[in-house]
Amino acid sequence: MAIVVRKYGGSSVADADKIKNVARRAIEAQEEGKQVVVVVSAMGKTTDGLVKLAQQVSDEPDERELDFLLSTGEIVSCTLLAIALKAMGAKSVSLSGAQAGIKTDAVHSRARILGIDPRRIHKELDRGKIVIVAGFQGITDKMDITTLGRGGSDTTAVALAIALGADTCEIYTDVDGVYTADPRLVPEARKLDEIGYEEMLELASLGSKVMHSRAVELGEVYKMPILVASSFGNSPGTLIHGGVSMEARNKVRGIAHDLNVAKVTVVGVPDKPGVASAIFDSLAKANISVDTIVQNASIKGITDLTFTVARTDLKKAMKVIEPVVKSIKAKECVSDSKLAKVSVVGSGMQTAAGYAAMMFRALYEAGINIELITTSEIKITCIIDEAKTSDAVRALHKAFELDKGV
Ligand code: ADP
Ligand code: ASP
Ligand code: MG
Repeated sequence: MAIVVRKYGGSSVADADKIKNVARRAIEAQEEGKQVVVVVSAMGKTTDGLVKLAQQVSDEPDERELDFLLSTGEIVSCTLLAIALKAMGAKSVSLSGAQAGIKTDAVHSRARILGIDPRRIHKELDRGKIVIVAGFQGITDKMDITTLGRGGSDTTAVALAIALGADTCEIYTDVDGVYTADPRLVPEARKLDEIGYEEMLELASLGSKVMHSRAVELGEVYKMPILVASSFGNSPGTLIHGGVSMEARNKVRGIAHDLNVAKVTVVGVPDKPGVASAIFDSLAKANISVDTIVQNASIKGITDLTFTVARTDLKKAMKVIEPVVKSIKAKECVSDSKLAKVSVVGSGMQTAAGYAAMMFRALYEAGINIELITTSEIKITCIIDEAKTSDAVRALHKAFELDKGV
């Protein structure tokens, strides 16, 4: 019997009526003859509320305890959904990530899935139950609860679909698919019927939060098609898969933006071997990922080194950097967290000239200053003032004629 894995995000299970809606849809899928697994996120903004509570009792909440706390959000929604299903007469069981067999490493707040033991889920499905799994969490070999990073329920769903041998993984959310830009910022944004893994991965990594980037990465590696669709309507959604025709693609596929950006500048760095290594080694040891890096040309043997980190990592990064700044005899370290990242993404760009120039011109004409630039074969990224994000995304969407289609 075909297995389907469906995931519902926070806004799709935000209240009792919405949970009942998800339950009804799960029963319909079972009546169509499928074995149904539903992964849920925490209700509404529950996870944000739990983070705030932890911050009220500590400036730097202990990472193990914070993960355990945050995992409870998904336990609430998954048990409520199973209760709703049983009340409707369906057979169902709720499972935490640990009960579902999801094993992770011990990197709290961004744990990676090491493997899934699917036996319990298969057993429950074979008994005719609709299986509800709490997203975003797993368990280490020492039996500690971990979380997979914000937005990580998408990754739970794709990983489960792979481990269970499902045909597709369906991600249900509050928009009806993947758009050429965040439809909340750009009303003219166009829904895509399909998108390749590579482009979706780039959009997700650059901030399009409609999909967790690690979910797309898993989908690509294991060739699992992922459908993104609305929890509320019945429109067809967007299929993320590997078979998108090369020639049919627009050169620019979409615009991504990310507000979780902070810039750190180490000022007055002696320009000699080993300095960059000392700075970035210390950040790597603290598990902080660094994004854009720019080193200025040195004047009289002194240079500045600028890089960006997630805004949520800034405090930790500054703490780690301070002793390094002293040891390498740099002048000081300053930061700015009121920044955003806007990116133009498209795999067709690598063979076409003039895309960077077009992006810079569009930002200039919208009166937006560019602080940092990075490029790769399929994206161009600029760091700008956070207050200009909407203007920038709209200007770029227009300049690249994304409202007009392929
Ligand atoms: P969920 O709680 O269902 O996981 P998220 O809030 O994580 O939902 O993701 C859905 C949101 O992603 C949408 O409401 C939308 O504002 C945003 N988004 C950002 N970029 C895009 C895009 N390119 N296409 C669709 N939605 C996008
Ligand atoms: N509840 C978690 C979050 O808010 C995980 C998720 O929604 O995917 O980030
Ligand atoms: Mg999400």
